[in-house]
Amino acid sequence: MRTIYDLHSHTLESDGTLTPSELVKRAARMGVQVLALTDHDVTNGIAEAQVAADESGLKLVPGVEVSVTWQGRTLHIIGLGIRHDDDVLTAGLAGLRKRRNERGREIVERLERAGVEDAWSGASGYSHGEILSRTHFARHLVDTGHARDIGKAFKKYLVRGKAGYVSCEWVGLEECISWIHAAGGQAVIAHPGRYPMGSGTMRRLLGEFRDAGGAGIEVVCGNNNKVEIERFARLANEFGLLASCGSDFHGPEQHWRELGRLSWFPETCTPVWQHW
Ligand code: AMP
Ligand code: MN
Ligand code: MN
Ligand code: MN
Repeated sequence: MRTIYDLHSHTLESDGTLTPSELVKRAARMGVQVLALTDHDVTNGIAEAQVAADESGLKLVPGVEVSVTWQGRTLHIIGLGIRHDDDVLTAGLAGLRKRRNERGREIVERLERAGVEDAWSGASGYSHGEILSRTHFARHLVDTGHARDIGKAFKKYLVRGKAGYVSCEWVGLEECISWIHAAGGQAVIAHPGRYPMGSGTMRRLLGEFRDAGGAGIEVVCGNNNKVEIERFARLANEFGLLASCGSDFHGPEQHWRELGRLSWFPETCTPVWQHW
């Protein structure tokens, strides 16, 4: 039987809802054999996940999902197989978390002006790790009746152009890749289909990413469809990039992004795990 890989997932250490050991146990139950934990800008869950993985007989790939700014847009770059205690990487991620915190303060001020009270304590109450995410603000907005669900909270308040949106300058693409390399990892572009960019810009991104030493792209992710998978499979091959797959699992509430429930992996692609 084919090995089931899921190389993109989150815990309470960032904006997920399970602890690292709950995540690993759930992945094992879902039949995942190789799981990457890739919290946003933080690696604190990896030690606990490793213990649970050893108990469950599942292979854990230490990872991270780094917030990047490229040409004025936010991108997510996954680091796979990182030494999570590497000095360069940990210092870089600490800087990103500081920026997140500063952004959080501004989000609170803006939400207050839009009539949303107690956003700092509300969002912080949902944050169990070291990062403050827009997801935590979204939960507060739902909690206080400002939005019916998380998706609507984003749409109404937290996306570009809305009252609670604050743009943030994350790390540059090349620097992010250099952190991942310093930590011995492979860099992978997360969910390439989710960035609002035309095909010319996407090609420029893939070229720059590859030239900077990027390894692969997530050809199969969460809830993408056949057309998207085929598009990114072609692009991966054209640009000489490896293919990854991951659910982007955040918690059982998001039943459409369950661990290990991924579409078929295109045979034409070379998997990012080819030399693991
Ligand atoms: P941040 O990195 O704090 O800006 O938050 C980004 C996170 O918010 C992503 O990793 C997703 O988990 C979540 N997110 C972004 N856009 C949406 C959306 N439209 N609906 C639900 N969750 C979203
Ligand atoms: Mn997230
Ligand atoms: Mn992401
Ligand atoms: Mn993610």
